[in-house]
Amino acid sequence: MKDDLTQNERVKVLIIGSGPAGYTAAIYAARAGLKPVLYTGPEPGGQLTITSEVENYPGYPAGITGPQMMIDFQKQAERFETDVRYGVVTAVDFSGWPHTVTVDEKTKISAESVIISTGASAKWLGLPDEARLNGAGVSACAVCDGFFFKGQDVVVVGAGDTAAEEASYLSKLVNKVYLVVRRDEMRASKIMQQRVLNASNIEILWNTETVSILGEHSVEGVEVINNQTGTKIILNVTGFFVAIGHKPNTAIFKNILNLDDSGYIITEPGSSKTNIMGVFATGDAQDRIYRQAVTAAGSGCMGALDAERFLAEKEMEVASFSH
Ligand code: NDP
Repeated sequence: MKDDLTQNERVKVLIIGSGPAGYTAAIYAARAGLKPVLYTGPEPGGQLTITSEVENYPGYPAGITGPQMMIDFQKQAERFETDVRYGVVTAVDFSGWPHTVTVDEKTKISAESVIISTGASAKWLGLPDEARLNGAGVSACAVCDGFFFKGQDVVVVGAGDTAAEEASYLSKLVNKVYLVVRRDEMRASKIMQQRVLNASNIEILWNTETVSILGEHSVEGVEVINNQTGTKIILNVTGFFVAIGHKPNTAIFKNILNLDDSGYIITEPGSSKTNIMGVFATGDAQDRIYRQAVTAAGSGCMGALDAERFLAEKEMEVASFSH
């Protein structure tokens, strides 16, 4: 890995993002001799670096931690001479060809093809207290921060698989978990719900929403309201974990690429092609349904194969033009 000092460079394949989609695209593009350059983005390794055990990725019968898996992905990409660089792509210009990508607001790179693998990030409730106390008891990652709440009481908000997973993980560390669910049922898969229900120290508060987070410098309690009865109570907790899903990291592509209502990049069915020639979208940035490491990796492979085909066609076009 090297720092980005390059100016006015032209590359065949530029990959944005370093999760399973980005690294898989890199492995395929590198093995095809395309010398890909991959920019890691602000969170090298992506969401898997804030996951504990990954048990559903084929090929790891004993499971593997998310961070280790991403180290392995990176090593495999670098083995085939992917140029992995720390840097954040801050702007793109897809109006001509080659495309122009700006890194860290200063370095412009020409790219004959771009593979977008920018992933998704955790959503927040939008309460002012959440931002005020972020890092002081408020978190969106139990695996990262659960350790600090050993033996204490915490709240987890959400009712999907993420919330169930976070609550189960925390229940092994903390004294008690209040799982705050806004409806009278959970969206999580049956097996994950069962894990939550089996934990003796997880209490589910149904039809309940967060009103405010109390505490001046750190979380000292959480006020919740039952949306059926209107009854408010204060939970004496020191931790507040938000686990209500994710949003795609696609802000820099707004008004440039076709995005759906939630901001996911729209790709042609059965391919990674976007509405711009030579720009391909892979992984969670374009997948609102599956959002798994293995599906992201599969779509990264599609991105690399689509880019390879595109570049071969471009080369033929140029060759026939010059004859
Ligand atoms: P989901 O979109 O599935 O669930 C989000 C949950 O948060 C919903 O229950 C929703 O409530 C709740 N929610 C949303 N906004 C608010 C709000 N403002 N206040 C209170 N609650 C709110 O996201 P997940 O991150 O849980 O899962 C995403 C995908 O990833 C799923 O496909 C899931 O299966 C997968 N996943 C798989 C895992 C695994 O297999 N180990 C682990 C984690 C995720 P409501 O139901 O009322 O809309």
